[in-house]
Formats: sequence, C-alpha cells, structure tokens
Amino acid sequence: MTLKTDAAFAPEIKMTLPGPKAVEIIARDKKVITTAYTRGYPFVLDHGKGCYAWDVDGNKFIDFVSGIAVNALGHAHPEIVRVVQEQASKFFHMAGTDFYYGIMEEFATKLCAMAPGSEKQVFMTNSGAESIEAAIKLSRFSTRRPKMIAFYDAFHGRTMGALSLSASKAIQKKHYAPLLDVSHAPYGDLDFIDNHLFTKTTPPEDVAAIFVEPIQGEGGYNVPPKGFLAGLRERCDKYGILLVMDEVQAGLGRTGKLWACDHEGVDPDILCLAKPIGGGIPLGVILGRKDLMENWPSGSHANTFGGNPLACAAGLRTIEIIEEEGLVENSRKMGQYLVGQLEEIGKNDDTIGPVHGLGLMQAIDIRTSDGSWDPARRDAIVDAAYERGLLIIGCGKGAIRFLPPLNVKQEELDAALAVFADAIRACQTN
Ligand code: PLP
Repeated sequence: MTLKTDAAFAPEIKMTLPGPKAVEIIARDKKVITTAYTRGYPFVLDHGKGCYAWDVDGNKFIDFVSGIAVNALGHAHPEIVRVVQEQASKFFHMAGTDFYYGIMEEFATKLCAMAPGSEKQVFMTNSGAESIEAAIKLSRFSTRRPKMIAFYDAFHGRTMGALSLSASKAIQKKHYAPLLDVSHAPYGDLDFIDNHLFTKTTPPEDVAAIFVEPIQGEGGYNVPPKGFLAGLRERCDKYGILLVMDEVQAGLGRTGKLWACDHEGVDPDILCLAKPIGGGIPLGVILGRKDLMENWPSGSHANTFGGNPLACAAGLRTIEIIEEEGLVENSRKMGQYLVGQLEEIGKNDDTIGPVHGLGLMQAIDIRTSDGSWDPARRDAIVDAAYERGLLIIGCGKGAIRFLPPLNVKQEELDAALAVFADAIRACQTN
C-alpha cells in the first residue's frame, strides 16, 4: 500500500544513519553508561517539537515512542515550558512529604476531582515502580495480608516489589530472587484464579491485593476479554482483597478514555499512575480509596522528591490542556484511524497483524509464515523505520507499538504510516 503524505509532515533524513555526531556521543556513552539498558537503534536526540524529534546531526524524525508514553503533548509544548520556567523561578524543591506548597495541593485537588469511582486521596512518588511500591505497602498495611496476585505478561516495574509482580521477561528477574510472595495467573483468566489459585496455592483470605494492567503494556498491548476487570472487582469484593489498577502506561487519555478502567466502568481501590502524569518531568501518583489513605498513619510511607513542584506544575497544565483541547477524544478518534491504516498495511500479508490496543496505545504483530513470533524481523522493521525517520519500539514477543502524543494530527499519522509501510517492504521475507 502506498500512502499519500504531505511533505510538510514527513521526516527528513539527510545522511546514512547514524550521523557522525551521534556516532561520537554513543562511543563516549558506552564508556560510562551501564550495559543493563536496552537501547536499540542509535538515535541521539538533540531537541524536539510536538511529535517531531531532531537528532544531533540535524535529521528530523517522527517520534511515535513519546518517551515511552510520557510526552502526552509531544516535545517542548510551549505552555508546559512556560509553567515549568515560572515554577523554577520560584523554587525547585521543598520535600512535599515534610512541607506544604500550593502547587502540590492544587494538582492533588485536580487529580481527586478526576479520579474514577469512589472518593480518592493522593500519595505522590517519582516513577511507575515507586507508585506500585506505594500500592503494595498500602495494600499490605490496610489488609494485614501478605500475598498478592498478578498476571503473566504483566510489567509493573523494576524495583523489588514491582519486579515480584512483573512476569513478562525472565531476564528482568534473573538472579534477583528472593522476591515477594506473588501468584501469577494467565491474563484474562478468571477461572484460573477461582479453580487454581484460590483453591490450590493462594487462599483468598491471605491475599492483600490483585494488581492488574487494564491493558497490558510492555507485555504486548494485550486487551483483556470483556468482563475481566469487572470479574476481578467481584472477587475482590467477595474476599476483602484490594483491586490495584496499574495505569502507569495506559492512564490519562492514552486509551481513548480518561482512565483505562473506564472502558469497563470498574472502580479500583488504588489507581497507580506515572509516565505522562508529570507532563514529562518524573512523577508518580497513587489515587487510593479515601478511607484507606486516611488510615495510613503519619510516617508509614514517604519520600524526598515525590510531588516535586516542577512536576506538579507541568502535570497540572498537561491535564488542563488535555481537557481544553479535547485530547481524550482525539486519542479515541486518531486511535481508530491508526488501527484502520495499520490493518490496511497488513491486509495482504499474513505475517503482519493483527493490530491490537485501545485509543493511541496500539501494536501490530510481526510473525513468520507459520504463525510463530518473529522478533528478529520485528527488530529489523523497527531499525528500517528509524533509518527512514520514524521512531517506534517493540513490545511483547514480536509486536511493534505505536505511541504518538495525544494531540497527534491525522497528517502526522499519515506521514508515519508511509514510513512504516516502506520499512515493512524493506524487510519482506519473500
Ligand atoms: N507499570 C507499567 C504498566 C509500565 O508500563 C511501567 C513502565 O514501563 C511501569 C509500571 C514502571 O514504571 P517506571 O519505569 O516509571 O518505574
């Protein structure tokens, strides 16, 4: 399929990549930065604007990674730059767990007003994993129970508690045991919880919380069967277990609804947020049921940087812009368009597709002709897209994810899709 694109929206690659400046920086980087990171292609960012990113050699790329679902408004949104500069000129930091300041309260008030379901209160962290840790501690504290349930292919972060819940790649856990007491079930399988976990290994009376991503992220952009989240809610209510929804990646409009749990109208006891919530500045949040949060005594959990004023200012303005510009609806609409176009690209090729996701959180599978995952070809397509000016990354065993900013325009999607179609053609296996 050949997509028509407006040149104004297309990337501009002026040389064989990586360019000379990128090569130099990467060579120096490798001497001082750990090999634990998972860098793929050699893109070195100089600056960005909206969904475009320029590398240090002056090449212009379309960025559909968005800092892994962080940059909800794209790069360098002028309003976010303005509020961060304004806040920075007043103060950078004051330890929100020990002192009061207005921007933290203002942001928390906004979050509570937006929270799904029952009345909630806020605890602020610095990352997704730290939000998960806070939820683990609040669940154990509130229930006095030791165990947790999570799902295969889940990713909840890399700290020891969050890692215990994650079950997407063995390398993430290798040599880190012992971990916390977590039982895993297949994602979407309520019967397994009832007839294996609850009856054989994991008495429900010992379970503090069930941790679930309403759509799995790193594990492959897996959308659960309808009724799964509601089924979890029912079991939690029956046994006094807390339901913790991890919307670190899926929250704040990414899935075409404000919260991903809104797709099933399920009210979590604890909602974990991070990534876009600080407008691009490190911030995590848990929104916990008010009665639980009010019974968490002073001193039982805290941190130095959580609720950083720059992040609160950027996060608050990001949310206001999402509301002012109708970006949750844009995510739904542009997501639908993206799915249609990706399906069109894979239409005549059994090895490309299906497309799966919600809103602007979409992935397309890359398989071999016998239907197995094809991670090598997936990586080759991702690299070929980079060489042509599109930044995308993989997820799961052999999928490619698309994470444009929530304010993406159709012309920008068209330009990216044209590059993607070309990258697939360049990696044809027959
Ligand atoms: N939860 C989910 C669903 C995530 O996608 C991630 C990160 O990708 C995390 C938790 C961990 O977040 P962080 O990397 O900020 O610790």
